[in-house]
Amino acid sequence: MARRQGVAVVARARHARPRGPAAWLPDSAARRRFRAGVLRWYRRHGRDLPWRRTGDPYHILVSEIMLQQTQVDRVRPKYEEWLSKYPSFAALAAADEDEVVRTWYPLGYNIRPRRLHSIAREAVARFDGRLPSDESTLRSFKGIGAYTAGAVRAFAFRERAAILDTNVARVLWRVFVAAGDPKRMTRHLWDVSRAVLPHRHVFDFNQALMDLGALVCTARRPRCAICPLARSCAWRARHPDASLVTARRGAPPDRRRPPADRARRVRPG
Ligand code: SF4
Repeated sequence: MARRQGVAVVARARHARPRGPAAWLPDSAARRRFRAGVLRWYRRHGRDLPWRRTGDPYHILVSEIMLQQTQVDRVRPKYEEWLSKYPSFAALAAADEDEVVRTWYPLGYNIRPRRLHSIAREAVARFDGRLPSDESTLRSFKGIGAYTAGAVRAFAFRERAAILDTNVARVLWRVFVAAGDPKRMTRHLWDVSRAVLPHRHVFDFNQALMDLGALVCTARRPRCAICPLARSCAWRARHPDASLVTARRGAPPDRRRPPADRARRVRPG
């Protein structure tokens, strides 16, 4: 593994797709450093969101599907409204599909309420209105892919399950790879996500990765000056001036208001 400016570089610039999985994963020291930085940051800056105060698999699933294409601020009121109207899989399954889609307004991407409705009907028909916790059964539901299955397992069932949405993929790619095309290394980024996953505090760790991707390591303007991962980030080592974008603007970086949350996309996996 090459080292440059204190950064563990785990992929070579010329290769878009890593070839030998073990050779490309962060070593144990890099994993420990990464986990510690992520969790420390989350304890101080993590957002207090309603779906982080529940372990109900239905509530978690609703929030995850709403968040797939919509910003947190828009999801929050709809999440509350939705759960008061459809408090369980059974209630949602019994509802008329057109009414379900109307209730979803104005979140858009109306395939999502239809999928949620169909998952509810399947959960009632196959599992007495509950969700199973194992990955393969979860993924047998139409509309539950790798990311959503990982999120339900980690956030509802508190299992040691990795996640990878576009925000998380961006953070992992920048910190550990920073070369090649991240869209072509989804499988590898899943391996990285599993490799860095701690044995304890999985819930906080995964939530932290999502917050970091949404608030700090944003797609267009990463805020490296206030990032807890800056000292070990491969992308930062290659773009040292990126931090000036945020550092120049007056207030001390850690007192500045976070940027608007970026909607989560779920493409990886
Ligand atoms: S240092 Fe910059 S590029 Fe690296 S993870 Fe942090 S915000 Fe993202």
